[in-house]
Amino acid sequence: MNIQPEYPLENTFGLTAYAQWGCSIEQIEDVFTAQAFAVENNLLVTCLGAGSNVILQPKISGLVCSMRIDGIKVLEESADSVLVEVGAGVNWHKLVMESLSHGWFGLENLALIPGSVGAAPVQNIGAYGVEVGQLIVGVNIVDGQRESRQIAQKDCQFAYRSSVFKGQPEWIIVSVVLRLSKLPLIESSYPELQSYLQNLPIASPGPQDVADCVIALRSSKLPNPAEFANAGSFFKNPVVVKEVGFAMQELGFKTFAHGEDYKLSAAQLIDRALSLIHI
Ligand SMILES: Cc1cc2nc3c(=O)[nH]c(=O)nc-3n(C[C@H](O)[C@H](O)[C@H](O)COP(=O)(O)OP(=O)(O)OC[C@H]3O[C@@H](n4cnc5c(N)ncnc54)[C@H](O)[C@@H]3O)c2cc1C
Repeated sequence: MNIQPEYPLENTFGLTAYAQWGCSIEQIEDVFTAQAFAVENNLLVTCLGAGSNVILQPKISGLVCSMRIDGIKVLEESADSVLVEVGAGVNWHKLVMESLSHGWFGLENLALIPGSVGAAPVQNIGAYGVEVGQLIVGVNIVDGQRESRQIAQKDCQFAYRSSVFKGQPEWIIVSVVLRLSKLPLIESSYPELQSYLQNLPIASPGPQDVADCVIALRSSKLPNPAEFANAGSFFKNPVVVKEVGFAMQELGFKTFAHGEDYKLSAAQLIDRALSLIHI
């Protein structure tokens, strides 16, 4: 493995950024080598995937590990489900598409989310009614003491765009273990997805139809970072108590059920605020 100075960092915002030191992590042993180099040189270690959820400063001090561990491995398979271990460097959308092609379901609502598999548990990526934490069985990490271990789903503290990993920047995620269904059940309760599917000339849509709809919906509203540099949304949809949700509904705002509470659309709130400024 080659640890280089002035290491250029990939990011979807298109910012020119360099790490003081950087390296590409292709296998778990590279993590140990990188950590040993960091200890010897008294450097902080940071891990980045595709750089689609970061705004980078021009110069990042310390050692940046660029996660590139590849591979999708079946650990267990039954008539109903499959347990797969996926390298942290695998492109997320590629995993979604490959799973569908094998007849493994559950990830289709998360199609076209940019980034790597290793970053997915960090903010518990979610879209169209599904969060990755629901499908994760465990996350394999190397911790700051250079020990590799698995964090079980129950200890991941998955919540809305949050997890235990956000508070543990020294942990490097090397692979993610997911249980995917072999039964073609779909999650279509998200209103926009539901109405899109209802308008298709298909009696009972399956997971591939859900993926196609999600891709179509996302492509119609989100700029592709390859064509227009961006880092997605900085905003979380605010979660409000039921009473506030009802009041917002009466004012014409969209609300989405979120457990006992309601989630508001940050995009709609911003659009409404901008329209008031323009008046
Ligand atoms: C156009 C666009 C649309 C998006 N839509 C959505 C969406 O619908 N839903 C959603 O949830 N997110 C969305 N995002 C955000 C982004 O796709 C996710 O956060 C994604 O998981 C980031 O992956 P990445 O590999 O680019 O992570 P990076 O940006 O490289 O890193 C993000 C964070 O994770 C940490 N990290 C990355 N890899 C590892 C690892 N292997 N081990 C430990 N820490 C790691 C980094 O240190 C950093 O703190 C969108 C982004 C864009 C640009």
